[in-house]
Amino acid sequence: MPAAETVHQIAVPVPLRKSFDYLGPGNLLPGVRVVVPFGPRRLTGVVLSTGPANTGHRLRPIIRVLDSEPVLDSWILRLLLWAAEYHHHPVGEVLAAGLPVKLRSGEAAAEPRGIRIYRASPDPAAEALDALSGAPAQQRLHRALSREGWHTWPELTEASGCGRHVLRALLKRGLAETRVRLPQITPLPDVEAIRLNPEQEQAANHIVESLGTFRTCLLQGITGSGKTEVYLVAAREAIARGSQVLFLVPEISLTPQLIARVRGYLGDNVRCLHSGMSAQERYETWWLARAGRISAVLGTRSAIFTPLQNPGLIVVDEEHDQSYKQQDGFRYHARNLAIKLASLKDIPVVLGSATPSLESLHNAREGRHRFLQLSERFGAATVPEIRVIDSGIHPPRNGLTDPLLQAIGRRLDRGEQTIIYVNRRGYAPVVHCYQCGWQAACNHCSARLVYHRDSARFRCHLCGHKEPAGAHCPQCAATLFLGGAGTQRLEQALYGRFPGARLCRLDRDEAGTAEKLHSRLERIREGTVDIVIGTQLITKGHDFPRVTLVGVVNADQGLFSVDFRGSEFLLQELLQVAGRSGRARTAGEVFIQTAHPKHPCIMKLLDHDYMGFADTELDERRLAGYPPFAHLALFRAEAREAGDALSVLERVRRSGEQILRQEEIEGVEILPPVPSPVERRAGRYRLQLMVRSRHRGPLHRLLGMLSVRMESGRSGKSVRWSLDVDPMEMV
Ligand SMILES: [Zn+2]
Ligand SMILES: [Zn+2]
Repeated sequence: MPAAETVHQIAVPVPLRKSFDYLGPGNLLPGVRVVVPFGPRRLTGVVLSTGPANTGHRLRPIIRVLDSEPVLDSWILRLLLWAAEYHHHPVGEVLAAGLPVKLRSGEAAAEPRGIRIYRASPDPAAEALDALSGAPAQQRLHRALSREGWHTWPELTEASGCGRHVLRALLKRGLAETRVRLPQITPLPDVEAIRLNPEQEQAANHIVESLGTFRTCLLQGITGSGKTEVYLVAAREAIARGSQVLFLVPEISLTPQLIARVRGYLGDNVRCLHSGMSAQERYETWWLARAGRISAVLGTRSAIFTPLQNPGLIVVDEEHDQSYKQQDGFRYHARNLAIKLASLKDIPVVLGSATPSLESLHNAREGRHRFLQLSERFGAATVPEIRVIDSGIHPPRNGLTDPLLQAIGRRLDRGEQTIIYVNRRGYAPVVHCYQCGWQAACNHCSARLVYHRDSARFRCHLCGHKEPAGAHCPQCAATLFLGGAGTQRLEQALYGRFPGARLCRLDRDEAGTAEKLHSRLERIREGTVDIVIGTQLITKGHDFPRVTLVGVVNADQGLFSVDFRGSEFLLQELLQVAGRSGRARTAGEVFIQTAHPKHPCIMKLLDHDYMGFADTELDERRLAGYPPFAHLALFRAEAREAGDALSVLERVRRSGEQILRQEEIEGVEILPPVPSPVERRAGRYRLQLMVRSRHRGPLHRLLGMLSVRMESGRSGKSVRWSLDVDPMEMV
């Protein structure tokens, strides 16, 4: 290494909100990784700048330079630095989040050696083929392998939902073959143009006209109105002009159907990026995107950090979805970063949703976003009819009311499918003893234990705690009361009522892996299931053409939420699940069981009137001083002793008030610390403190100084504290 004489500012992955000075060679560019000594450790950091030292301390030299050219290119580095500043999060941790895992640990950013590809053997042994009929997973994978051309493992696992052991079995039986190939850029496939209706065409034209300029478009359209067609037409045009497309979707929507549809129209050069991929697969996609060897990335939240060589268009589908917000560590929001990225690169970003977030709707109404609406259902499909069942008049038994059961019976007679939607897994969410008042509650959390019948256990859905469950009270031996209905109880009740019906339960206990989920979804689509009992897993992305009835078993949970966004989230969720009904040729029905049929939220739901709901809700938020009319930040603290967490938040409050006075910052309100809605979780007490302002500027001035002051003070090892800028959930 040449003489180390120049001072560099290095972002080091430690929880401190600053960079560190090191000595190194003079020619280091920002975005290059270096290995530096940090206390007794060696860490992989990133060069931020070169310039005079911040302190007079004797500086330590850089141990090793890892890259000859920056791995964080200029615009992605700018995006990450902006995000670190905006979220007041340690810059070293933010930059690490922007790199593939392999590069965080200091591995070389080398060209991938090539990618293993597979196809079905052209001349398999007849007996091996026959044996497939007894192995449904192998059959699914073989079907995926039999499609035209060679396929990568991520493509195959996405299409089939199978694990690698299934592939190994097929290779062993001589039903599949493999080789290694280097990724190639392939031209756009020849496909028949998608025929758009006039509204879709107008929206697509608007996006295409915006290519090359920064613009945020909010594309609102009910389920089935054909938003995806609009994205695809605009994306194809962006690719045809030589740029790349970033397509973000919620984790749960990244289905084989969507992937196949996008690849069918945009070509095999579309790569996926999601948490189910291995570190090597993610690294390959990162490398190929950066080298300009792929035309589009279809990915979940963290795909926002993909360093596309020449991005031309960003799509954020289901922009209201809560999974875009990272809920721990570096708490970024992928939608907001997408807008920032579009402004840095001067390109358009499309936010799509049937039920846009109130933030985005407000921005559209204020003229900051261009508002594009699709009001008709695409093709021949019709809007489902929503009915309310008053559970005061029709008391449910095992969670189900008579009108809903009768409607299910009619579907069974006609050979149509029903979805029963419930937000709770397990059998009974409320268990107590009428004799002595005992309740099944978690010892580690402020939460009830849920009775799971299949495993005969009580389970805590917050911390995972399990204990054996019996039918009798552990204190007085009386028979326990099992209240409420989770997926298991509904399944049992439906089985009792309709013994001949084919049931399928879709919750995290039953379909926890991608493989299990895919095989069940396929059975539903094939029509070998009559009634689906499911949680949120069934609400998004899937198209079930035979479903003509959706029953929402318990809509009341979200009606009286302590979160000011509670009713927004509830309506988004219910409209989403209602959209599962009657998508293809047949009109659908939706039954909502509620004890509060006159609740304003339910009334708006009946009319499919999300926009009317949004108007009322926005008025209320304006009056109450909540987002989007105010900006929030939440300090959270948790500790084994509630007093320890409280004293940290009291220090936040005192220091904050002091800074406001000293710096003469006005219009910022620091609220007193309060217990979090979930007060205790996994044995730790949780408290929070809200900071609120009508204006972003003064809020961020305060947060910048306050977070640094909190970091330098001693909070004791036992207290964990964090800062969440623009929090989405108040729990
Ligand atoms: Zn008892
Ligand atoms: Zn617990």
